Amino acid sequence: MNTVAQKGAVMAVSGEVLKACPFCGGQAKPYCEEYCGDSRSKYPWSIRCNGAECIFDSCWYETKEDAMAAWNCRFTPWTKFDAQDRATWPEVGRQVIMCLNGRVYAVYFTLNYVDKKPRWCDGGAIYKQPQYWMPLPEPMREED
Ligand SMILES: [Zn+2]
Repeated sequence: MNTVAQKGAVMAVSGEVLKACPFCGGQAKPYCEEYCGDSRSKYPWSIRCNGAECIFDSCWYETKEDAMAAWNCRFTPWTKFDAQDRATWPEVGRQVIMCLNGRVYAVYFTLNYVDKKPRWCDGGAIYKQPQYWMPLPEPMREED
């Protein structure tokens, strides 16, 4: 169900491709609310994030196609990670967000001391190789 089909995208239940949620990386789905109170809604279609702890959804549209097009028109900051292709790796020592099997984690990207292979870790945990990653902005610093 949560098949990654292309960079930053997941297959919706109906088979059409929707980009992942911009906030949690979760799977998004078209949603239709035909009635608004007693009257038929002119704009019943929305896209909703189906992430476990996320409530993000889009504006309302007349057709499912319009809702999906609007959802997908935004920029996707994810980079597809390939352990064999160094050009797809983050800068060593950089804190990033990684997406592993549809879940996201804030981690540090480093290299293994022994074999120099990519390593994604935070505090004590070391993670499996993710499918995607994106940079985190540098933290705000107080001016002197
Ligand atoms: Zn979400």
